[in-house]
Amino acid sequence: MLRGDAFGFFEGSYASLANMAKAEYSGERCVIKEYLPEKCAWRVQLVNPQFKGHVMAVKESALCFDWYVSPPERLAALPEHLRVANVGAAGNALFCDRNVEAGVEILEEHPVMVVTNKNAMLARWTLHSQMLQEHSSKYPALLAFKEFSDGGIADDYINDASTLLNTAHQQLSLTWSTFMAAVETATNLMSAETPPTSPASEALGLEEVRQVADVLAKWQSNSLSVNAVSLEQHQSALFRFACKANHSCDANCATVFDMNTGCMIFRTKRPIKRGEQLTISYFGRDPDFIFSSSKERRKKLSVRGFVCTCSQCVLEGGEVPQSALFMYKEELARDVEAAKAAALAEAGAEGCRLKRQHSHRRAYSRAHSAAAESPRGRARGGSSVRIGLNF
Ligand SMILES: [Zn+2]
Repeated sequence: MLRGDAFGFFEGSYASLANMAKAEYSGERCVIKEYLPEKCAWRVQLVNPQFKGHVMAVKESALCFDWYVSPPERLAALPEHLRVANVGAAGNALFCDRNVEAGVEILEEHPVMVVTNKNAMLARWTLHSQMLQEHSSKYPALLAFKEFSDGGIADDYINDASTLLNTAHQQLSLTWSTFMAAVETATNLMSAETPPTSPASEALGLEEVRQVADVLAKWQSNSLSVNAVSLEQHQSALFRFACKANHSCDANCATVFDMNTGCMIFRTKRPIKRGEQLTISYFGRDPDFIFSSSKERRKKLSVRGFVCTCSQCVLEGGEVPQSALFMYKEELARDVEAAKAAALAEAGAEGCRLKRQHSHRRAYSRAHSAAAESPRGRARGGSSVRIGLNF
């Protein structure tokens, strides 16, 4: 990772320029080259052919990260002690073939792709279409993307894909910033309670719509949240192996994103037995997730196309087979209606409920501070050790 004043970028990341003194550069896309500490600025190259590869220095505050794709040489092989295997309904899973103690960094992996969470659907599709234009289908990052499962939720993205393509087709003649503004409006409409119908959708090829839906579903089902650029900004990242790990509300590995190296690290939370499946929490240490009921956790996880049947959820709520997903979605819809009807009654009890929640969170914060895992720098010489990593 290249480190700047407050931001960090992978070399070769794409970013958009904002608030530029020269208005002609605002909204233009550029490639990050290097940080210039003496100027407190980043050296970037403009992408638009009309600027003929112009290279210039820009202030950090003018850069908005768009995406990054790993070059082939940064994609490492799976470490020898790990193995990917199919486990049926849950798709692929990550296994460990050695006995490993607690506190061990068991996987360290460079991302295949990282994309901004701002206008996420547009960014994910634009990145994909750009890669298809620039590289053959054998390009390692594209091959890695192809391996990901759509999680069985591609059909859920047909409407989004159709809206996205319609917007793109209608706005092709506009400038990038105007196009982004139009898509932002479309994205807001898509997240409204009643999705708009797309009158021009029939004009689009079904195959193209399905291709976009497939890309969106793969990102939704597999990506992990990271803060590669800064602690305040979040992106979604795809890792060839880390994203194969299944979720458990009682995971045996903790995830740490190292902002210095740009790598995802799995650290064992308890001893792992040879042949055991590695699991992580898709919501990390988010207390809103940790302190919710099994029903609430399953609701949050359902956007990734599965019902959590981890030991903790089974203990709390009884086992729900994968085939029950459809019924579960219906149940969620009924919950929304019930919540609306009970809104007034809830308002009276809100004060008490919030007090209880805050008390839980304070307790969590205290416990977490006391038992906080060492930061990565200290961990290397402390209780955390690394084994046979091929990096
Ligand atoms: Zn669970």
